[in-house]
Amino acid sequence: MKGFAMLGIGRTGWITKDKPACGPLDAVVRPVALAPCTSDVHTVWEGAIGERSNLILGHEGVGEVVEVGSLVKDFKKGDKVVIPAITPDWSALESQAGYSMHSGGMLNGWKFSNAKDGLFGEFFHVNEADGNLALLPKGMDPATAAMLSDMVPTGFHGVELADVRFGDDVAVIGIGPVGLMAVAGAALRGAARIFAVGSRAVCIDVAKKYGATDIVNYRDGGIIEQIMELTGKKGVDRVVVAGGDVKTMIEAVTILKPGGRVGNVNYLGSGDYVLVPRLEWGCGMSHKQIHCGLMPGGRLRMEKLAALITTGRIDPSLMLTHRFNGLEGVEPGLMLMKDKPRDLIKPVVLVDK
Ligand code: NDP
Ligand code: ZN
Repeated sequence: MKGFAMLGIGRTGWITKDKPACGPLDAVVRPVALAPCTSDVHTVWEGAIGERSNLILGHEGVGEVVEVGSLVKDFKKGDKVVIPAITPDWSALESQAGYSMHSGGMLNGWKFSNAKDGLFGEFFHVNEADGNLALLPKGMDPATAAMLSDMVPTGFHGVELADVRFGDDVAVIGIGPVGLMAVAGAALRGAARIFAVGSRAVCIDVAKKYGATDIVNYRDGGIIEQIMELTGKKGVDRVVVAGGDVKTMIEAVTILKPGGRVGNVNYLGSGDYVLVPRLEWGCGMSHKQIHCGLMPGGRLRMEKLAALITTGRIDPSLMLTHRFNGLEGVEPGLMLMKDKPRDLIKPVVLVDK
């Protein structure tokens, strides 16, 4: 089979591999809709997690089951399924401790396009199918459902990590697709003001539709100055970080009220240290908390988030700005994610032409 792969740091291309084998608990799936991701950009072009060679990329998509293992109970050949980006080993001790995304070691629930081949091939392997697949709800557009793999769960996890509560003022730093889902999630959780920090006009437009009350363009001035001014120097209760770099934590901590909480889901692709400002962190005594996390995957999470689309509480389709047809579309799709043209939010690839 063919697949679009990371050949080495900074290099991508099409390769040929054997079709994956199916273990007794597992499934082999063919892609129906796929989405390239900024995380693949960090992995390939920043070399953020180290060297990988001939590793098929991709971790977001909807597919059709072509084979299941002998012990799989709830899925069969022909089922249309949503595949979470994170597919934990559910019997691992880390999973039993409540951190399934780190099953088997830090970040090890993240298998596709990290520890094994991802979704950008003619077929891909899913471990523990009963625990990690979710049926595509009847009538749901596969392109929209592909946002359930990573964008919805990651943006919402940022909101969970920041522990947004009724009436909170929340800043979302970065309003690409992840941050936009954090804006939508903060609104669902009952935030009062939501400050959306970004600069692309398309993202700003969707941020307002998802519930942002204030827009902060970080290219027009400092984030700290703008948010402190907008809040009468009080700052915000919660910050979700979904963009920026190792210096963004300076801004996040500074704009936070004492006792507030940062939820970071940004994948920091480069830099050795994350900077926290000493004085603004109350010399270590501010009760300003910093939480960070890889998105939780698994079937239950996918089913619950899918229900938010089915019931009309969220509409991730507003983020789909570019569409490609055929598996070969993953290449230009990923290049778009790398180059981030101003009219881009999220590309999607429809594999069945
Ligand atoms: P995008 O690149 O599409 O969006 C990034 C956003 O950050 C944009 O709004 C951009 O603004 C803004 N931004 C860039 N630089 C700065 C800066 N210096 N200060 C403030 N804002 C800035 O990314 P995605 O939404 O696709 O992904 C966001 C992050 O989440 C990525 O790092 C991705 O790898 C990570 N991720 C993490 C996961 C997890 O499980 N924790 C899972 C999936 C993704 P502009 O409008 O100017 O472009
Ligand atoms: Zn992703």
